[in-house]
Amino acid sequence: MMAQQRVCVIGAGVIGLSCAVNIIETISNVDVTIVSHLFSPNTTSDVAAAIFGLKPLVFGDTSPSLQKNWFLTTSHHMESILKTQEASEAGVNVISGYYLHNEKNNDKKLPWRDIAHGSIRSMTNSELNLYPGYSNGLSFSMLMCETRKYLPWLMKRYKDHGGKVIKQHIGKLIEVSLFSFK
Ligand SMILES: Cc1cc2nc3c(=O)[nH]c(=O)nc-3n(C[C@H](O)[C@H](O)[C@H](O)COP(=O)(O)OP(=O)(O)OC[C@H]3O[C@@H](n4cnc5c(N)ncnc54)[C@H](O)[C@@H]3O)c2cc1C
Repeated sequence: MMAQQRVCVIGAGVIGLSCAVNIIETISNVDVTIVSHLFSPNTTSDVAAAIFGLKPLVFGDTSPSLQKNWFLTTSHHMESILKTQEASEAGVNVISGYYLHNEKNNDKKLPWRDIAHGSIRSMTNSELNLYPGYSNGLSFSMLMCETRKYLPWLMKRYKDHGGKVIKQHIGKLIEVSLFSFK
Protein backbone atom coordinates (compact mmCIF):
# COMPACT_ATOMS: atom_id res chain seq x y z
CA MET A 1 0.00 0.00 0.00
CA MET A 2 1.28 3.47 -0.91
CA ALA A 3 2.29 5.67 2.01
CA GLN A 4 -0.09 8.52 2.72
CA GLN A 5 0.94 11.78 1.03
CA ARG A 6 0.97 14.86 3.22
CA VAL A 7 0.18 18.22 1.66
CA CYS A 8 0.29 21.67 3.25
CA VAL A 9 -1.58 24.55 1.61
CA ILE A 10 -0.64 28.01 2.85
CA GLY A 11 -3.49 30.52 2.77
CA ALA A 12 -7.26 30.26 3.06
CA GLY A 13 -8.40 32.81 0.49
CA VAL A 14 -10.12 31.67 -2.68
CA ILE A 15 -6.86 30.37 -4.17
CA GLY A 16 -5.72 28.37 -1.12
CA LEU A 17 -9.16 26.92 -0.44
CA SER A 18 -9.74 26.00 -4.10
CA CYS A 19 -6.37 24.23 -4.22
CA ALA A 20 -7.01 22.41 -0.94
CA VAL A 21 -10.47 21.23 -2.01
CA ASN A 22 -9.19 20.12 -5.40
CA ILE A 23 -6.31 18.16 -3.84
CA ILE A 24 -8.37 16.48 -1.14
CA GLU A 25 -11.21 15.55 -3.52
CA THR A 26 -9.07 14.23 -6.38
CA ILE A 27 -6.07 12.51 -4.77
CA SER A 28 -6.64 9.34 -2.81
CA ASN A 29 -4.87 8.62 0.47
CA VAL A 30 -3.83 12.23 1.00
CA ASP A 31 -3.60 14.18 4.25
CA VAL A 32 -4.13 17.92 3.68
CA THR A 33 -3.58 20.77 6.13
CA ILE A 34 -4.29 24.44 5.45
CA VAL A 35 -2.01 26.77 7.41
CA SER A 36 -3.24 30.35 7.31
CA HIS A 37 -3.03 33.57 9.26
CA LEU A 38 -6.51 34.74 8.18
CA PHE A 39 -9.73 32.91 7.36
CA SER A 40 -13.10 33.96 5.94
CA PRO A 41 -14.58 36.53 6.52
CA ASN A 42 -11.23 38.31 6.97
CA THR A 43 -9.34 37.53 3.73
CA THR A 44 -8.96 39.76 0.68
CA SER A 45 -11.04 37.21 -1.19
CA ASP A 46 -13.99 38.11 1.06
CA VAL A 47 -14.06 41.67 -0.25
CA ALA A 48 -13.82 40.89 -3.97
CA ALA A 49 -16.66 42.57 -5.80
CA ALA A 50 -17.19 39.08 -7.20
CA ILE A 51 -18.60 40.03 -10.58
CA PHE A 52 -16.94 37.84 -13.12
CA GLY A 53 -14.92 39.45 -15.91
CA LEU A 54 -16.42 42.93 -16.16
CA LYS A 55 -13.23 44.51 -17.45
CA PRO A 56 -11.17 44.03 -20.58
CA LEU A 57 -8.12 41.80 -20.13
CA VAL A 58 -5.99 43.49 -17.51
CA PHE A 59 -3.33 41.18 -16.15
CA GLY A 60 -0.07 42.83 -17.13
CA ASP A 61 2.18 40.77 -19.37
CA THR A 62 0.04 37.62 -19.35
CA SER A 63 -1.03 36.86 -22.92
CA PRO A 64 -4.68 37.69 -23.79
CA SER A 65 -5.28 34.11 -24.98
CA LEU A 66 -4.13 32.70 -21.62
CA GLN A 67 -6.27 35.21 -19.73
CA LYS A 68 -9.26 34.31 -21.87
CA ASN A 69 -8.58 30.65 -21.18
CA TRP A 70 -8.65 31.37 -17.43
CA PHE A 71 -11.93 33.27 -17.80
CA LEU A 72 -13.52 30.46 -19.82
CA THR A 73 -12.33 27.73 -17.44
CA THR A 74 -13.63 29.65 -14.42
CA SER A 75 -16.86 30.43 -16.23
CA HIS A 76 -17.47 26.74 -17.00
CA HIS A 77 -16.69 25.85 -13.38
CA MET A 78 -19.18 28.44 -12.07
CA GLU A 79 -21.80 27.32 -14.63
CA SER A 80 -21.46 23.75 -13.39
CA ILE A 81 -22.10 24.91 -9.79
CA LEU A 82 -25.03 27.05 -10.96
CA LYS A 83 -26.78 23.93 -12.27
CA THR A 84 -26.69 22.21 -8.88
CA GLN A 85 -28.94 22.59 -5.85
CA GLU A 86 -25.95 23.96 -3.95
CA ALA A 87 -25.68 27.12 -6.09
CA SER A 88 -27.43 29.29 -3.52
CA GLU A 89 -25.33 28.03 -0.59
CA ALA A 90 -22.18 28.43 -2.73
CA GLY A 91 -23.15 32.02 -3.57
CA VAL A 92 -23.12 31.44 -7.33
CA ASN A 93 -25.85 33.21 -9.24
CA VAL A 94 -26.56 35.38 -12.27
CA ILE A 95 -27.08 39.12 -12.21
CA SER A 96 -28.22 41.41 -14.99
CA GLY A 97 -27.01 44.93 -15.56
CA TYR A 98 -25.60 47.55 -17.88
CA TYR A 99 -21.97 48.14 -18.83
CA LEU A 100 -21.79 51.86 -19.66
CA HIS A 101 -18.94 53.58 -21.52
CA ASN A 102 -18.13 56.30 -24.04
CA GLU A 103 -15.86 54.44 -26.45
CA LYS A 104 -16.94 53.79 -30.00
CA ASN A 105 -17.04 50.11 -31.02
CA ASN A 106 -15.48 49.11 -27.68
CA ASP A 107 -18.06 46.39 -27.18
CA LYS A 108 -16.57 44.04 -29.76
CA LYS A 109 -13.18 44.18 -27.99
CA LEU A 110 -14.48 42.97 -24.65
CA PRO A 111 -13.39 39.37 -24.11
CA TRP A 112 -16.24 38.67 -21.72
CA ARG A 113 -18.73 39.02 -24.58
CA ASP A 114 -18.05 35.30 -25.07
CA ILE A 115 -18.54 34.36 -21.43
CA ALA A 116 -21.57 36.43 -20.48
CA HIS A 117 -24.28 34.16 -19.18
CA GLY A 118 -27.22 34.17 -21.55
CA SER A 119 -28.13 37.36 -23.34
CA ILE A 120 -25.82 40.21 -24.23
CA ARG A 121 -26.83 43.07 -26.51
CA SER A 122 -26.19 46.75 -27.21
CA MET A 123 -28.31 49.07 -25.10
CA THR A 124 -31.17 50.80 -26.85
CA ASN A 125 -31.33 54.61 -27.08
CA SER A 126 -34.17 54.74 -24.56
CA GLU A 127 -32.05 52.75 -22.08
CA LEU A 128 -29.01 55.02 -22.67
CA ASN A 129 -31.19 58.09 -22.09
CA LEU A 130 -31.58 56.93 -18.49
CA TYR A 131 -27.82 57.45 -17.94
CA PRO A 132 -26.79 60.95 -19.06
CA GLY A 133 -23.09 61.20 -19.88
CA TYR A 134 -22.79 57.78 -21.54
CA SER A 135 -22.93 57.28 -25.29
CA ASN A 136 -22.67 53.48 -25.42
CA GLY A 137 -23.38 50.42 -23.37
CA LEU A 138 -24.22 46.75 -23.21
CA SER A 139 -27.06 45.03 -21.45
CA PHE A 140 -25.82 41.72 -20.05
CA SER A 141 -26.37 38.83 -17.69
CA MET A 142 -23.21 37.82 -15.85
CA LEU A 143 -22.16 35.08 -13.47
CA MET A 144 -21.60 36.31 -9.95
CA CYS A 145 -19.78 34.46 -7.17
CA GLU A 146 -20.42 35.89 -3.71
CA THR A 147 -17.16 35.03 -2.02
CA ARG A 148 -18.58 35.48 1.49
CA LYS A 149 -20.72 32.44 0.73
CA TYR A 150 -18.32 30.67 -1.62
CA LEU A 151 -15.40 30.53 0.86
CA PRO A 152 -17.40 28.94 3.74
CA TRP A 153 -18.91 26.51 1.18
CA LEU A 154 -15.41 25.48 0.06
CA MET A 155 -14.27 25.16 3.67
CA LYS A 156 -17.23 22.87 4.45
CA ARG A 157 -16.38 20.65 1.45
CA TYR A 158 -12.76 20.58 2.60
CA LYS A 159 -13.58 19.63 6.19
CA ASP A 160 -16.17 17.05 5.07
CA HIS A 161 -13.26 15.25 3.38
CA GLY A 162 -11.18 15.33 6.57
CA GLY A 163 -9.14 18.46 5.77
CA LYS A 164 -7.30 20.02 8.69
CA VAL A 165 -6.72 23.67 9.53
CA ILE A 166 -4.00 25.46 11.50
CA LYS A 167 -4.28 29.18 12.22
CA GLN A 168 -0.77 30.56 12.13
CA HIS A 169 1.38 33.10 10.32
CA ILE A 170 4.28 31.55 8.40
CA GLY A 171 7.49 33.57 8.43
CA LYS A 172 9.57 31.17 6.31
CA LEU A 173 8.48 28.15 4.27
CA ILE A 174 10.91 25.97 6.23
CA GLU A 175 8.61 26.42 9.26
CA VAL A 176 6.05 24.19 7.55
CA SER A 177 8.36 21.19 7.84
CA LEU A 178 8.36 21.64 11.63
CA PHE A 179 4.60 21.06 11.96
CA SER A 180 3.56 17.60 13.03
CA PHE A 181 0.16 18.03 11.24
CA LYS A 182 -1.49 15.67 13.74
C1 LIG B 1 -11.73 45.71 -3.32
C2 LIG B 1 -11.40 44.50 -4.17
C3 LIG B 1 -12.33 44.09 -5.13
C4 LIG B 1 -12.03 42.99 -5.93
N1 LIG B 1 -12.95 42.58 -6.85
C5 LIG B 1 -12.74 41.49 -7.60
C6 LIG B 1 -13.72 41.00 -8.52
O1 LIG B 1 -14.79 41.56 -8.68
N2 LIG B 1 -13.44 39.89 -9.24
C7 LIG B 1 -12.26 39.21 -9.09
O2 LIG B 1 -12.07 38.18 -9.76
N3 LIG B 1 -11.30 39.65 -8.22
C8 LIG B 1 -11.52 40.76 -7.49
N4 LIG B 1 -10.56 41.20 -6.61
C9 LIG B 1 -9.28 40.45 -6.55
C10 LIG B 1 -9.46 39.21 -5.68
O3 LIG B 1 -10.01 39.59 -4.43
C11 LIG B 1 -8.08 38.56 -5.45
O4 LIG B 1 -7.45 38.31 -6.70
C12 LIG B 1 -8.24 37.23 -4.74
O5 LIG B 1 -9.03 37.37 -3.58
C13 LIG B 1 -6.87 36.67 -4.36
O6 LIG B 1 -7.10 35.46 -3.66
P1 LIG B 1 -5.95 34.79 -2.81
O7 LIG B 1 -6.52 33.53 -2.22
O8 LIG B 1 -4.72 34.67 -3.66
O9 LIG B 1 -5.56 35.86 -1.70
P2 LIG B 1 -6.23 36.25 -0.27
O10 LIG B 1 -7.72 36.22 -0.32
O11 LIG B 1 -5.53 37.52 0.13
O12 LIG B 1 -5.78 35.08 0.67
C14 LIG B 1 -4.44 34.95 1.09
C15 LIG B 1 -4.43 33.98 2.25
O13 LIG B 1 -3.08 33.67 2.56
C16 LIG B 1 -2.87 33.87 3.95
N5 LIG B 1 -1.48 34.24 4.14
C17 LIG B 1 -0.77 35.14 3.43
N6 LIG B 1 0.49 35.20 3.88
C18 LIG B 1 0.57 34.30 4.89
C19 LIG B 1 1.62 33.89 5.76
N7 LIG B 1 2.84 34.43 5.67
N8 LIG B 1 1.34 32.95 6.70
C20 LIG B 1 0.12 32.40 6.80
N9 LIG B 1 -0.91 32.73 5.99
C21 LIG B 1 -0.68 33.69 5.05
C22 LIG B 1 -3.84 34.97 4.34
O14 LIG B 1 -4.09 34.96 5.74
C23 LIG B 1 -5.07 34.53 3.52
O15 LIG B 1 -5.79 33.51 4.17
C24 LIG B 1 -10.81 42.29 -5.78
C25 LIG B 1 -9.88 42.72 -4.80
C26 LIG B 1 -10.19 43.79 -3.99
C27 LIG B 1 -9.20 44.21 -2.92
